[in-house]
Amino acid sequence: MKKSQIKTRIAPSPTGDLHIGTARTALFNYLFTKQNNGKFIVRIEDTDKERSKKEFEDNILEELKWLGLDNDKLYRQSERTDIYKKYIEKLLKEGRAYLSKEESKAKMGKQIEVVRLKNPNKKVEFDDIIRGKIEFDTTELGNFVIAKNINEPLYHLAVVVDDYEMEISHIIRGEDHISNTPRQILIQEALGIDRPKYVHIPLILTQNRSKMSKRDNATSISEYRRKGYVSDALINYMALLGWNPGTNKELFTINELIEEFSIENIQKGGAIFDIEKLNWFNREYIKKISEDEIFKNIKQNLPKDILNMSEYNDKILKKIIPIIKDRISIWSDVLKIAEEGDLDYYFKQPKYKTEGLLWKTDSDLNIVAKNLLKIINFFENISNDKFSSDEIKKIIWDFAEKEGRGSVLWPIRYALSGRNKSPDPFQLAEVLGKKETISRLHNAINKIV
Ligand code: GLU
Repeated sequence: MKKSQIKTRIAPSPTGDLHIGTARTALFNYLFTKQNNGKFIVRIEDTDKERSKKEFEDNILEELKWLGLDNDKLYRQSERTDIYKKYIEKLLKEGRAYLSKEESKAKMGKQIEVVRLKNPNKKVEFDDIIRGKIEFDTTELGNFVIAKNINEPLYHLAVVVDDYEMEISHIIRGEDHISNTPRQILIQEALGIDRPKYVHIPLILTQNRSKMSKRDNATSISEYRRKGYVSDALINYMALLGWNPGTNKELFTINELIEEFSIENIQKGGAIFDIEKLNWFNREYIKKISEDEIFKNIKQNLPKDILNMSEYNDKILKKIIPIIKDRISIWSDVLKIAEEGDLDYYFKQPKYKTEGLLWKTDSDLNIVAKNLLKIINFFENISNDKFSSDEIKKIIWDFAEKEGRGSVLWPIRYALSGRNKSPDPFQLAEVLGKKETISRLHNAINKIV
C-alpha cells in the first residue's frame, strides 16, 4: 500500500446532528492534514440502517461546511457493501473467520447465521502518538462477530476495510475508541494489511469532568450556530480543547492554527469545556467583524415587535451598534437585550411613571421640570450637526455641577429612556438626535406640570 501521503478521515455515524466532539475531532484531523499537504476524508458510517438518517448526514455535512472544514472526498459506507463482501469472503476462504449458526437474542431466539473472526487470543500492542504504547490481551474478546451476514458488515470490519482501501495514514479519533483498536488490529492482521498510525485524542468534558451531555451545554454545532456563535470563534476555541500552543497566545486564525498545531502537543487528560471562555472568544471575533456584517447580524436577531414598529428605522439601529456591541457575546444576546426592554426606547417614546424622573435624594418634581426646561434651552443652542455626545456634555456640564449632577443628569437620562439603567444621557441624546431629544424632554415636563 502506498502511504507516502498523509491521509486522515472522520467517520461520523449519521445518528444525530454534528456533535461538538466530532467537530473538534474533524478540526484536529483537518489541521494535521493541511499542515502536511495531505487529504482529509469524510466517511459517513451509515451501516446501521435503523439508526442512520439522511437528515443527520445532511446536518453533519452542512455544519462541517459552515465551520470551513472542507473535505477532499466523501464516502458513504452504505454504498460500499460489495467491497466489504469481498473482504468477508476472503477471511472465510482463508479460514480466518467462520459462519456461525446461533440463536439471535435480538430476534427472540430465532436462528441466524453470523460471521465471527477466529481470535488468535494473543496480546496486541500498538503505539499511540499521544499515549505511547498500549497493550491489550484480546483473549477476553473471544471470536467476536464481524458481520451479520456476508452482505452486512459490522462496524469494526467496515472501519478496517475502509481505512485500508482509502489509504488512511493516521487515525485521529476520540479516546473512547481506544478499546475498539485491538479488535480492529486483529482484523487487520487476519487480512494481512498494514496498520495505520493511531492518535486517540482526549474527550471533551463538562466542568465536573463528566462527558458532555445535552443537559449541561448545547452539544450540536447547529445549536451554537443558531445561538449566534461565529464559526471562526468556535474553530479557535475548539482547537484549544485538548491542544495548546505552549505559549500564551489564544487567538488564532485557521491559517495560524494550520501552521502551529502539533499532534505532539495534544494533552492526554480530558479537555474541559468552558462556555464562558467560548463566549469570550466569540466577543473577540465579533469585535473584528465589519460594521456591515455586524449590522446584518444584529438586525436578524431583533424581535419582530421592534422591526414592525412604525418608528423603526435602519439609521437608528446603525447608530446604536456600538452600544449593542458592548453588551453582547453572541448574536442571540441581541434578542435578550430587546426582551429586557433595553432597545425599544431608541425607536419610540418611552412610557414611564412621572416619579421615575426623580433622582434618589430629590423629591420636588417642579425643580426637575425647571431644570429640564433649562437643558432644552442649552440644546436649542447646539446646531443639528454638532449635536454629539461630547458637545452636549461640554455645554451642560457646568450647569449640572452647579445644580447637582444626579439631579440634572438623571432626569434627562430617564426622560429619554424611561429606564433605571441605560447608557449615559449624552450618548442617548446623540443617538436620538436633537429634535427627538428635545421632544422627549418636553414630554417629561408636560407629565409634571
Ligand atoms: N463511526 C464512529 C463514530 O461515530 C467513528 C469510527 C472511527 O473514528 O474509527 O464514533
